[in-house]
Amino acid sequence: MLKATSSSEGDASLSSEEPPSPGAADLCTLPAGPAAASMPRTTGRARGGQRLDWRWQMRNRLRTIAQLRESFPSLDVSSGLIEAARKFPLAVTPYYASLIRRPDASDPVFRMCVPQPEELRDPAFLRDDPLEEDEDMPVPGLVHRYPDRALLLVTTTCSAYCRHCTRKRVAGMHESSITAPRLQQAVAYLRRHSEITDVILSGGDPFTMATEALERVLAALRTVPSVQVIRLGTRTPVVLPQRITDELVGMLRRYHPVWVNTHFNHPNELTPEAEEACARLVDAGIPLGNQTVLLRGVNDDPRTIEDLCRGLVRRRVRPYYLFQCDLVRGVEHFRTPLSRGIEIMEYLRGRVSGLAIPTFVVDAPHGGGKIPVLPNYVVSMSPTHTVLRNFEGMLVAYPEPGIPDSEAPRPADAGRPPGVHDLASGGATSIRPAHLARIERREMKTLCRFEA
Ligand code: SF4
Repeated sequence: MLKATSSSEGDASLSSEEPPSPGAADLCTLPAGPAAASMPRTTGRARGGQRLDWRWQMRNRLRTIAQLRESFPSLDVSSGLIEAARKFPLAVTPYYASLIRRPDASDPVFRMCVPQPEELRDPAFLRDDPLEEDEDMPVPGLVHRYPDRALLLVTTTCSAYCRHCTRKRVAGMHESSITAPRLQQAVAYLRRHSEITDVILSGGDPFTMATEALERVLAALRTVPSVQVIRLGTRTPVVLPQRITDELVGMLRRYHPVWVNTHFNHPNELTPEAEEACARLVDAGIPLGNQTVLLRGVNDDPRTIEDLCRGLVRRRVRPYYLFQCDLVRGVEHFRTPLSRGIEIMEYLRGRVSGLAIPTFVVDAPHGGGKIPVLPNYVVSMSPTHTVLRNFEGMLVAYPEPGIPDSEAPRPADAGRPPGVHDLASGGATSIRPAHLARIERREMKTLCRFEA
């Protein structure tokens, strides 16, 4: 298992340099923005511009129920909530707290960051580490599952702890970052395994590390000639966009090719601050992808995902994965049936550009890796034809190669409409729904031409 290292032996993350003081409810004057009207009540004021400082945001994270209660006086503090916060770490940046519009679980941002009694539900099939990452660690902190990729867990710290986190077993349990000896061990393994060309930094959130500490990791990876691509997984543009500074971005661009995958789950997270953070990264030549987790009561609705994906593309962020929620202890209340994800993919296809459509994946238990799950577009197959369905419900016959030119299509029986078998056997080429906007547009065009 990932061994969390103590801050005294680790490289400096901000959290280890400047530990949060849960007792000091020095909350902020919250940022102006779309949620300003419903911002949480605060007990302290940030001195001019402080709220724009990511270190100030980190120091002033809401870390206790009392601090949450101060910000949201109407918060329903049940014994279950207290127990959930005791079991799994709580942290919310003042910025992210300001995006909460209703202080209850009907609000998507609230639901993602405030402990819920449902986290205590514990069906037998849940695991602390369902992806068995700990089993796939040849050296501590380095997960080697796929042939050409490795995942390096560089910190256990996040600026905000997502209630739906897959790594609840480590994220925030003890805030620290990778030590120099552990980094050397990981680098030595990568040197011995030149088939690994792509290293993903994750945790925790790598952008919570001090820039110099993160740079030490990147510099060490760049000493391995076979490592071509470095990727960073982060929720920072969502929960702490102030951290995406010119200094950070200037450092990252020295280690290209660097890719960043971020983690927006709901359109309410697409604020001007988040947009600026994404723009900084993209302008530095860092391609941005987004990994969304499908979460019950947050985004398990086709239109919400459509708005999110459209909003991401508008901000130059490519929707990359839509994840089925993992079988992790503490997140069962977020899990949706697989059919919901398939329904969402069905809704998106044809409605939005392929650029805005993520791949829906199940990260399989037992370390099975990511398995894409799609609506069924292949309706039938024969040696000569494959019958495909499009998003409109139209069926088309796709002729396979090698059909002799001389082979005449067998016409469908006269007097009856073609069926799927006729498509598969070459007796018909398509079956269309009675009304299609696309066909009606064509007919209108023909009519206009005729009348002109
Ligand atoms: S930012 Fe990532 S690692 Fe941290 S709590 Fe959220 S999902 Fe987990």
